[in-house]
Amino acid sequence: MPVAPLIACPECDLLQAETPLPPRRTACCRRCGVALYRSTSHSLDRSLAFSLAAVVLLVIANMLPIAGLDVRGQHTETTLWGAVQALYDQDRVAVSVLVFVTTLFAPATELCIMLYMLLPLRLGQVPRHLSLAFRLAPIAREWGLVDVFMLGVVVSLIKLGNLAIVVPGIALWSFGVLILLLTAIGASFDAREFWLRADANRAALERSASGSAARPLEPAT
Ligand SMILES: [Zn+2]
Repeated sequence: MPVAPLIACPECDLLQAETPLPPRRTACCRRCGVALYRSTSHSLDRSLAFSLAAVVLLVIANMLPIAGLDVRGQHTETTLWGAVQALYDQDRVAVSVLVFVTTLFAPATELCIMLYMLLPLRLGQVPRHLSLAFRLAPIAREWGLVDVFMLGVVVSLIKLGNLAIVVPGIALWSFGVLILLLTAIGASFDAREFWLRADANRAALERSASGSAARPLEPAT
């Protein structure tokens, strides 16, 4: 007879048996009433779809110009990587490293980790370093400051509007949508469903491995 999994209340530590919930319902702690888990469906698939879309937008945001400036007939434009290089060339090494880490490295790392975790789970596998990746994802998310960068760029472009004609680039819009997608990934990701899927995949893999091991060898012809 299968045993219902136990869940610990994050507020009062009371251990309780999990029960299946009808759609759009929330299970609350029997003692303190805090929400324990919700009946979510396909949250990991949504997180995976958002992550794949975010990777495409991150590539676009880093390959195409953020904005162009028309000053007295001369047109100049730059990409994010070009801005990092310009800061470095102007001996602002710390600022260039900070921009690189918070707007490029951290979001790219977060998306790589999400794909590393979610894609194999979707295909019925379990990544080898799943626990490590699960712990690293929130750290990468904390260092990603694309929204702060966007705010700074928009304020700068508005101020430059008095001196030159500012033409927003495709990368600027891509960064805007990227912020929404990164928020959507965090909102849709359900850690409970994530570990349930990992356990189910692991059990299915073990069953198939034990089944193939127990199968008798076919006689040689
Ligand atoms: Zn409780």
